[in-house]
This record gives sequence, structure tokens and C-alpha cells, in this order.
Amino acid sequence: MEAGAVLTAWRRILSGYRPNLTIEITRECPLRCPGCYAYGEQHLGGGVVLRELADFKGRELIEHVIDVIDRYRPIHTSFVGGEPLVRFRELDVLLPMLTSTGRHVQVVMSAVRPIPAAWARMPNLKVCVSIDGLQPEHDARRRLADMRPPVTKRYLAAPQQPSECIFANTTACLSADLTHAITPCQFGGSPECRECGCLASVGFSALGDYKVGGVLPLRTIFNASFAVGAGMRRLRGESTL
Ligand code: SF4
Ligand code: SF4
Repeated sequence: MEAGAVLTAWRRILSGYRPNLTIEITRECPLRCPGCYAYGEQHLGGGVVLRELADFKGRELIEHVIDVIDRYRPIHTSFVGGEPLVRFRELDVLLPMLTSTGRHVQVVMSAVRPIPAAWARMPNLKVCVSIDGLQPEHDARRRLADMRPPVTKRYLAAPQQPSECIFANTTACLSADLTHAITPCQFGGSPECRECGCLASVGFSALGDYKVGGVLPLRTIFNASFAVGAGMRRLRGESTL
């Protein structure tokens, strides 16, 4: 991450906002993958599951997403699902609107249908296709032995609990009704950090270890800033988001 982006993120945290926003843009997915966390009983904390939420389509979805982004003012927005390509027509409108104003956007998908070619020409857009597969393929693709040593080292020193995860603490997650908060991180429920395997959490953990002036770990500054930000949210009468 560039120094400028870190400073901007820091300012957002101090004022009680999260610099990253993840939106489950739809409750729908045509697949039924074993082990899918999004459709797990505990993903939304129990009582309701993703497929039961009222979600949005068409113009209503576009307007609600823009409203959410105006309120949260994230530096980086991820669209996940369900399968985001179920709403590719809405994304076809939203992505140019968001990326053309300099916002960084990511769409995480399983590519169940062709990805619109025009998306390749958008600046600031990253499209991520999950190729995890079932356990044999997953384990082969994510084998630590195939990773470069610095990445392996990071995975072995991953956060032990959500409160230690800078990625979780800097990311607000909303489910498909654009109201329901997913906590403590995008996986919801009671995630097992030691089994997470999330590259973003590992990347943010590495950032936290960076020593400002060669002395003070960025993690210490982040943690103090999270506390200030939580106080700001309380003053505004807002929730944990
Ligand atoms: S494609 Fe993704 S959202 Fe759909 S069932 Fe599989 S893991 Fe879950
Ligand atoms: S499960 Fe992964 S992303 Fe979630 S809080 Fe733990 S380390 Fe972070």
C-alpha cells in the first residue's frame, strides 16, 4: 500500500469510519458449494441466513448501493455474494460510476457466466475469480510449499483472533439487504482465524508489522486509532460498523 493510501485510511479510522467496505450484492448463487461460508447458518449471526434476506435488483439496487457508499465513504469497496455476476447488469452501471471517480473496487466471484469484456478496461477495478475448488484441489492450490518464503512466514504468523486482524478491523461488511452487518469479518459467525487462509488478512498483518521510523509498529498506531474511531462512532450514536 502506498504511504498516501495508508494516511488516508488512518484518517478514516480516526474519524470512526472503516476504509474498506464489503457488500454482498446479492443473496443468490446458482451453485451449492460444500463448505460455502456465505450460506452457513451462522454467517449472519444466527436466526436468518443469506438466502432468506430481502435483496435488491435493478435501479433499486444501484440507488441503494450508491447510498451506502455515500454513507460509508470507503477507499476500497469489494462486491461479493452470493455470486455477484447474478447482478452483472447492475454492476455494469455501478462499476464505471465508482471507478471513474478514483474509487478502488474489487469484484470477487466464481465466474459462473462470462465476465463482461468492458470490465477489463476500467481503471481501479480488480476482478478476482475463486478457484479454490473442493478439498483435494483446494489443498493442492494453496499448498504452503508452493508459496514464496515471505508469504509462508506470514501465513504461519496470521492473526489468532478477529480482534488481532487489521483486515477485519478496517473493513465494514454488509449483507444483501444492505443493512445487516456481517461480523466480526466477512466470514461472519465465529471464524477460526488459524484456519482462515485469507490473503487480505495476511497482507494487512504484514502491514501492521511495518515499523514507522524503524521503531514503532504500524499495528500499535492502528490499534490506538481503532479505539479513537470507536469513540467517535459512540459520540455519533452509531453502531459498531
Ligand atoms: S460460488 Fe461462492 S457463494 Fe456460491 S455456493 Fe459456491 S462458495 Fe458459495
Ligand atoms: S477469520 Fe481471517 S479475516 Fe476473519 S478475523 Fe480471522 S484472520 Fe481476519
